[in-house]
Amino acid sequence: MKIDVLSLFPEMFTGVVNTSILKQAQEREAVKIQVVDFRTYADNKHRKVDDYPYGGGAGMVLSPQPLFDAVDALKRESGTKPRVILLCPQGERYSQQKAEELAAEEHLILLCGHYEGYDERIREHLVTDEISIGDYVLTGGELGAMVLIDSVARLLPGVLGNEESAVTDSFSTGLLEHPHYTRPADFRGMKVPDVLLSGHHKNIEEWREKEALRRTWERRPDLLEQETLSEKQQRWLKEFREKH
Ligand code: SAM
Repeated sequence: MKIDVLSLFPEMFTGVVNTSILKQAQEREAVKIQVVDFRTYADNKHRKVDDYPYGGGAGMVLSPQPLFDAVDALKRESGTKPRVILLCPQGERYSQQKAEELAAEEHLILLCGHYEGYDERIREHLVTDEISIGDYVLTGGELGAMVLIDSVARLLPGVLGNEESAVTDSFSTGLLEHPHYTRPADFRGMKVPDVLLSGHHKNIEEWREKEALRRTWERRPDLLEQETLSEKQQRWLKEFREKH
């Protein structure tokens, strides 16, 4: 996969994309990440990328020309039909499902805004998706782009080893993940559940399945509304409700 990021502050990405799993993912050539300063595409003498809003009002608006030209150049260079994603608080709320959908693409271009906003023609005619990472406002799209890159790259084949597998992660299964414990079995009197020490794989699996359901029911009951539960899960839910 190729991920191009258009940003006015490329240096913000240095630590994140060159550390840990994202670094390994690039070394293993599972993903190629390129951060481009789109100011270099501004066709005016002072490399200005923004201007005052028509109609007046506070803040500066990103002009269409540098972003349109930058996206055109990246498309020409790669010969692909990329998803062009605008990071934007007004976009579709980001989710694991969206990360999975994007992980199946061969090329993504992420547009990071700054200042008051974008010229509306960027939304209407340049981008294929608008994504918000949550209902709050950031100063720029860079942190959102990093969230997206990290969550997509870890789903690409060969990026996570067995020890970090994404299969049972929260949201991948539709539920939150079950609790984890490690040594010691007794820490200051706080004990690890017996079943996890039993070596009985079937019982351990069942305990994990049940605890994942309990945790989801306690913390994110909204997720259960979208799930088709097995008879066993429905029995467990009834049991949780009765105990509650
Ligand atoms: N005036 C805009 C509005 O009210 O919708 C907010 C602009 S914000 C200060 C500047 C930039 O930060 C946005 O253009 C976008 O790229 C990014 N941004 C802010 N909040 C975001 C969020 N929740 N998700 C993704 N990007 C965000």
